[in-house]
Amino acid sequence: GSRQIAIDGPAGSGKSTVAKKVAERLGIFYLDTGAMYRALAYKAVKNKVPLTDEELVSRLAYETDIYFSKERGVWCDGEDVTQAIRTPEVSRAVSLVASYPGVRKRLVELQQAEAERRSIVMDGRDIGTHVLPQAGLKIFLTAEPEVRARRRWQELKSSGKEASLAEVVRDLEERDRQDRNRVASPLRAAPDAVILDTTRLDIEETVARILDMARG
Ligand code: C5P
Repeated sequence: GSRQIAIDGPAGSGKSTVAKKVAERLGIFYLDTGAMYRALAYKAVKNKVPLTDEELVSRLAYETDIYFSKERGVWCDGEDVTQAIRTPEVSRAVSLVASYPGVRKRLVELQQAEAERRSIVMDGRDIGTHVLPQAGLKIFLTAEPEVRARRRWQELKSSGKEASLAEVVRDLEERDRQDRNRVASPLRAAPDAVILDTTRLDIEETVARILDMARG
C-alpha cells in the first residue's frame, strides 16, 4: 500500500532538509507544504492584495495554480517562484495568509490529493494533526530557538541573501508565535507524533533516526 510520513515543526527546525532526504532514501515523493503557502503569499504581495482582507486572500487561493516538486521547484500560475518565495518579505507575509481557514481548506485539499496518488513524505505545521491524520509515521522536530535562527541565517547567507542574525531571530519568533496561536490548525505535535529535538543532532543523524523508525 502507499505510505505517509508526516514531519512537522517550527521554522528552522530543519524539517524541509530532513524530509527531502528521508523521501530520497525511501524513494518516495516529497511535498513541501510551506512552499505552497509561500507561493500564495508571494502572489498576494505581488498583486498588492491587502493581506488583511481575508475574503480576497481566500478567494485568491482558489484562483491560483500551485505546483511543487523536488525536481522542478515551486511554480505559481506557470511562473517559477522557487527563489522568489524565500525572501524576508514573503516570510513576513506568509503566516497571516496561512491563518485564514479558506486558504487552508484549499491548500489542504491539494495536499491530500497528492497523498492519494502515491507514497509521500510531507512537511509542514499541521500534517500529523490535520492533513494526514492516518500517517503511519509522524515526527515533530524541535530545536532551541537560537539554534533554529542560526540555521535559517546560515541558509539565507549561503543563498547570497543579506540579513542580520538579530533580524532573523525576530522574524522567526514572530512567525512561530503566529503559527502557534492561530485558530485554524495551529502548530502542534500530534498526540501520536515522535518528538525529536535536533538541537544537538546534525542533518544526517536526524535523517538516520527517522529512517530507523520508518523501516521499523
Ligand atoms: O515551512 P515554511 O517555513 O516554509 O512555512 C512557511 C509558513 O507557512 C509557516 O510559517 C506557516 O505560517 C505556513 N504553513 C502552514 N501550514 C503548513 C506549512 C506552512 O501554516 N502545513
